[in-house]
Amino acid sequence: MTRPAKKIRRFSDFSDRLLKTIEPLTGIKMRALGDIAYFGEAYPFWCAQSDGGSDKKQVCLSGGIHGDEPAGVEAVLQWLTALAKNQDLFERFQFTVFPCINPFGYEYNTRENGAKVDLNREFDKKTPQSEVRFLKEAIAGRRFDFAYECHEDVDSQGYYLYEMARNGRKPIGTAIIERIEKICPINTADAIEEMPARGGVISTPTEMDADFLARLDQRGGWPQTIYLSAQGSDLCITAETPTRLAMQQRVAAHLLAFETALNLI
Ligand SMILES: [Zn+2]
Repeated sequence: MTRPAKKIRRFSDFSDRLLKTIEPLTGIKMRALGDIAYFGEAYPFWCAQSDGGSDKKQVCLSGGIHGDEPAGVEAVLQWLTALAKNQDLFERFQFTVFPCINPFGYEYNTRENGAKVDLNREFDKKTPQSEVRFLKEAIAGRRFDFAYECHEDVDSQGYYLYEMARNGRKPIGTAIIERIEKICPINTADAIEEMPARGGVISTPTEMDADFLARLDQRGGWPQTIYLSAQGSDLCITAETPTRLAMQQRVAAHLLAFETALNLI
């Protein structure tokens, strides 16, 4: 296998910023769950977790499973930075944060990892790629009250999201879009990625019946959201910012969406 031609970003720069961000914070710790290695280079697989407590809502935030979607990684980092002024959030929530799930893809700006595998199709595999294995080991048996995944779309003219709300959880996608539309265009098409959409929200089926599972199979395997949902996380949002917009606008959209969600759950 050949290495992609050119590094677009340096993961070590990102790691430095991440560690500097987390160090001054109390109530949240960062650890490397292992190394991801390709072509003689190793990348730490980072996970940050804030202190637990039985009365706290469990929230999962992640970015960068697709390496060519850098605004999600930046959004997670900026959100962690903003936590310095919002540490009261630790009283209400326990956060589990995966800032950059695909470090190799982040460096080389590739959707896939160093083995040319789309990590967001690996969650039902018996022996998934290391990135997904580390993530699954970290959250095995855990359910989240809310999960937000940062993605980007090269084709879309506006922000949109997939929402999976099950077992009586109230959907919040439309309320998020109402906030986002003030700062970012919304993709209001009736169909996005061949799925029916309404006002920037694609509501994924609430029941994982045979039809739905067959469709996931056709696409190559389970994405992260389906795994989380199958583990009992009843409210999951996968959000897509349009890469055609400026980085800071895309980052701002993810940040506002996540902040809005925390106020609604
Ligand atoms: Zn993506």
